[in-house]
Parts: sequence; C-alpha cells; structure tokens
Amino acid sequence: MPVPPTAPRRANETVREALRRELLAATAPLTALELSGLVGIAHRQVDEHLEHLRRTQQHRDEELVVEPARCLGCGFEFRARDRLARPSRCPECRSERIDPPRFRIVAGRSR
Ligand SMILES: [Zn+2]
Repeated sequence: MPVPPTAPRRANETVREALRRELLAATAPLTALELSGLVGIAHRQVDEHLEHLRRTQQHRDEELVVEPARCLGCGFEFRARDRLARPSRCPECRSERIDPPRFRIVAGRSR
C-alpha cells in the first residue's frame, strides 16, 4: 500500500506533538525517515525535533528510547553517539552502509 506523501496532521497539533503521538503509538521503533513520512515533514527536520523532544521530556514521565545506528558492514554500533542523526560512515570499517537509529517513546515508566 503506497504511503501518502504528506500524511495529514491533526488541526492545531504542532509538529512535535504529532511526532510524540506517533512515537507513543508505534508498535515498533521508527526511523527518522519513517517519522518524516508519518508527520509530513522533511527527513532532515526530524532529528532537530527529536532533540527538542528529548530535552523537554524531563518534565514528563516519558523517555525517548534510541536504538543506536549500526554498521551493516561490520556490525559496529554507534552507542556512544550523542547526536540523533544518522552517522554517515563507520569509524571501524569505513563502510557507508549504516542502518539508521530507531526511536520510540516509553511512557509511564517507573524510574
Ligand atoms: Zn563497520
């Protein structure tokens, strides 16, 4: 089934609210590309909004969970990476075949 190019965002819902809703509703972690299609914004804008969501979540009982990007060449995982954007090249084997990071939001977690 083809994905519509610009998914409808609910009226009076901001991009970040839409992102948060998709991340909470997702049954499996989502890539930035998938999120860009779901919310109807450019791929490169997603990382910026995710960074902001992560900072503001300290006020809520929610956590943005990041499954790290992984090199498809050697399996290296970008665990220590602080930025959320997809890395361009593996530091171990120099491969550019990188499986992008995936995101979801876990709510109501007791910490
Ligand atoms: Zn590698």
